[in-house]
Amino acid sequence: MRHTTRLLSALMLCLAASPAPAQPDLAARVKAFGNAHRREIVTEFLKLVSLPDIHGDASALQKNAALLQQMMQKRGLETALWQTSGGVPVVFGEKKAPGATRTILFYIHYDGQPVEAKRWAQPDPFVPVVRTASIEAGGKDVTDLANAAFPDDWRIYARAAGDDKAPIEAMLAALDAIGSAPKVNVKIILHGEEEGRGPGLDEVIRQYPDRLKSDLLVILDGPQHASGNATIFYGARGGAGLDVTVYTARQGMHSGNYGNWMPDANVRLAQLISSMVSPTGKVVIPGFYSDVLPFKPDARAMMDAVPDNSRDIQLAFGVGSLDGAASSLQEAVNLPSFSIHQMQGGEVGGVIAASATAQIAMRLVADNDPSVMVERVTGFIRAQGYFITDKDPDVATLAAHARIARLIPRVPFDGSGAWRTDPGNPQAVAATQALRSVWGAKVVRIRTLGGTVPASAFIDAYHVPTVGVSLANYDDNQHSDNENVRIGNIFDGMVTLSALMMH
Ligand SMILES: [Zn+2]
Repeated sequence: MRHTTRLLSALMLCLAASPAPAQPDLAARVKAFGNAHRREIVTEFLKLVSLPDIHGDASALQKNAALLQQMMQKRGLETALWQTSGGVPVVFGEKKAPGATRTILFYIHYDGQPVEAKRWAQPDPFVPVVRTASIEAGGKDVTDLANAAFPDDWRIYARAAGDDKAPIEAMLAALDAIGSAPKVNVKIILHGEEEGRGPGLDEVIRQYPDRLKSDLLVILDGPQHASGNATIFYGARGGAGLDVTVYTARQGMHSGNYGNWMPDANVRLAQLISSMVSPTGKVVIPGFYSDVLPFKPDARAMMDAVPDNSRDIQLAFGVGSLDGAASSLQEAVNLPSFSIHQMQGGEVGGVIAASATAQIAMRLVADNDPSVMVERVTGFIRAQGYFITDKDPDVATLAAHARIARLIPRVPFDGSGAWRTDPGNPQAVAATQALRSVWGAKVVRIRTLGGTVPASAFIDAYHVPTVGVSLANYDDNQHSDNENVRIGNIFDGMVTLSALMMH
């Protein structure tokens, strides 16, 4: 008994050492509301993910937009359905808080990736299936939904469940939980062209600055940290790239008659690419990392504090050895990266390849200029003795150059899309504190999200401090088959979003 008491007091001391949540009642209140209305919330969400929402399918997306506008109206939001030239509406909602001094704009997207239905473990990715756990953990289909309790660990399988409709449900249910009385002015923008890209977002940002301006933009997208803890990010990577095609002849030539005489384009391309990356994985193109390194101590400290378990991720994905370009996963996503997304070369008929193409993809951070990065790669290829052209060379051009490569750069006209907000910016600090007020010290702070989210359009136009908050489970299979959301993540998301609205 005594022993237990001592243990308990030691435990209490431990707890006291880490900052306790400042808004425990808010968290408890929102949790209690979520539990009391669990069935309604899950049912509304099941209806939302039943609507097909594949990017580019304007008529399907219009149906989503109509339902989403209704869902916002039901919460007493002032709404607007903005038509765009691509035919995919942007849904906007606003809730003013009397006396509020801050306005937060929440960004969420409602379109999803295409589906290959036969790869899914259910007949139709738009007929949601509820399971008692993830498929990998042996989850069983729940058929009796009328009597289901929908506990936290159950999953809902449907396209866009995790990316990005769960945050929509969490957002609206959070408004319900706080009695539609936020302490900050709340604006919500629901975008239907995130996955496929489209003109709509830029159009509404130009057309409705008065409606869309805010003190803080919160991007609700992406999976949360694998630890399952609340996750905030202060930046994200963007991208640029180039397609490189090397040529060795006008056409493939018989490998028996010309082997050892005509150079093989597949080999030439492989040699060119391997000359760009050291055997340990570091890109050796001059200047590739120079915009970024060395990291400042506060940036390094933030990366080091992320509780990644690299070994677990290796085991889960069957990764036998690591790339070696970075010393940790967080360092990796804070550096520009270099990948070959596709390689193609050769033809049928037993001939030596006359041309071979690689799609070079770079993920870039805010410090990088995409044109400069593409120029560095181009300069490196030139330095390997290649004559650079931008079109398919004719026979005379081919014969005139020992080595020839065609380059097609892919640099977005409006920059790479990478962005970063100083975590010390007062609005970013307020968002961090809001999360900590309900989750305490467990909040995971990510300096740079590895993937891309469409924040730069807002940042370029309005210079608004921006953070991202990820709500979906890390194993939500987003963009892939069997996309899902863990039910508890919707309810935890309500707590997180309530905290942001009540801070
Ligand atoms: Zn997304």
